[in-house]
Amino acid sequence: MEKRMGDMTPNLSRKEFACQCGCGYDTVDYDLPDVIQNAVYHFQDKHQGLRIHVKINSGTRCETHNTNVGGSMESQHLYGKAADIVIYDGLTDTAIPASKVADYFERIYPRSHGIGRYNGRTHIDVREPMARWDVTTDEDTSMHEKQWLNRMIHKFFT
Ligand SMILES: [Zn+2]
Repeated sequence: MEKRMGDMTPNLSRKEFACQCGCGYDTVDYDLPDVIQNAVYHFQDKHQGLRIHVKINSGTRCETHNTNVGGSMESQHLYGKAADIVIYDGLTDTAIPASKVADYFERIYPRSHGIGRYNGRTHIDVREPMARWDVTTDEDTSMHEKQWLNRMIHKFFT
């Protein structure tokens, strides 16, 4: 993917945050693009400025779309305060491990923001007060436990 200039930050455009159902809802909290752009800068520095870019997997959601994707009733995505992101190294076209992206956010915001760990993506939001969750799966966790955990987490956080 070619690097291009975004209309919100160097790597981000408003349309990337827009609700994916096509309704046109594209409210984005003032702070969110900068929080994500700073993460891109961090990995650009770490990788000597190689072509690091970010993909917004899920940004702002209208209520209908949020329900359809199983988001919680209080989801920060409803308010334009959240994004699920993947940061890529464009040179090798591989994703920076989601755990490294979450580690970065937790280090920069030790007592604020919402940070959620998923397999292959990272949730970041600009809520107050802070929230943390980890729904990455591994072979040690039984499916039943995982489903229960996911239900609880969706109820309260995502
Ligand atoms: Zn929508």
